[in-house]
Amino acid sequence: MQASDLAAPALRGLTPYQPGKPIAELARELGLRDIVKLASNENPLGPSPAALAAVERTLAELHRYPDGSGYALKAALAETLAVEPNQITLGNGSSELLELVARAFLTPGSAALFSEHAFAVYAIVTQATGARGVTVPAHDGSRGPRYGHDLEAMAERVDGATRVVFIANPNNPTGTYLKTAELRRFLTGLPESTLAVVDEAYFEYVEAPDYPNTLTWLADFPNLVVTRTFSKIYGLAGLRVGYAVSSPAIAELLDRVRQPFNVNGLALAAAEAALADQEHLARALRVNRAGLRQLSEALTARQLNPLPSVGNFLSFDLGRPAAPIYDALLRHGVIVRPIANYGLPQHLRVTVGTAEQNAAFLAALDRVLEP
Ligand SMILES: *Cc1c(COP(=O)(O)O)cnc(C)c1O
Repeated sequence: MQASDLAAPALRGLTPYQPGKPIAELARELGLRDIVKLASNENPLGPSPAALAAVERTLAELHRYPDGSGYALKAALAETLAVEPNQITLGNGSSELLELVARAFLTPGSAALFSEHAFAVYAIVTQATGARGVTVPAHDGSRGPRYGHDLEAMAERVDGATRVVFIANPNNPTGTYLKTAELRRFLTGLPESTLAVVDEAYFEYVEAPDYPNTLTWLADFPNLVVTRTFSKIYGLAGLRVGYAVSSPAIAELLDRVRQPFNVNGLALAAAEAALADQEHLARALRVNRAGLRQLSEALTARQLNPLPSVGNFLSFDLGRPAAPIYDALLRHGVIVRPIANYGLPQHLRVTVGTAEQNAAFLAALDRVLEP
């Protein structure tokens, strides 16, 4: 008898999420010192100084349980986002919120829908519940951005068993986004018995004028859940804090399945401070805008076809298997992200860093691609 025979049947064939390679791991493996990590869409400016100060002030309280209701952070979010605190669910990263939605709404026999090339966590949290995950082919480029979500095709696949549709806007790793009109049309056509989870992990980075403000739609769609995170532009990936905004009824259900203290005290304090530091946010946005241009122009000049991205990362096409290039970049001390597990074996994804980090990546890439 093996442990795997005892495990829940849903776990068979489930592969864990593959994160970006940690800096310390590459340092350990190759004995390198100067390492540039552009692999996990982290903010290259680091956390807001205000968030760091809040963490320091909270350190002496580490013997106390955190506020399990997250009162102060929810109040600050509600104020900033113009919603009610009872519409907000806090999570240990927004990944936890995706999992809570799956645990609250998916059962064996039901199904969740997501797009090809979409964020990997949707398939994992779905499969873990025993529900069926349905992957819908992405755009081929004829009717929408290549590799982007095809909402019309997704709408056609919704049936009586579809309890949840996961939508990444923008999507990681493709950087593609859905426009206001098309997303609203999709939600309008969705049966009320199907939840739409719109994952907006990169919301704050998007500057396209036709990018939707979904929070203003919550009153129209009681089946809408919007998730966001402090891991990306707010620079707090290491603390694990994200949030969902939904109807109070959905928030109350998510509250039933979460652990009592799912967001730790340092994360609560840091997130509240980070939210108030709009200057840091503006700085991060400026650096990202310049870096996206720098990387996109350089990759285009090298005929590496970066996918147009509205996030803080770019995926580009090497026109050959990307794994050896990824390995060679590691030996030059540069960590990017292979995305073969997203169905893109010839692409790599690079996070937008500072101008210096982007230049270091490009220099390493040139050395690696030298004939
Ligand atoms: C990074 C990311 C998340 C969430 O990350 P957390 O750190 O768990 O908040 C969610 N969705 C997408 C598409 C992401 O890229």
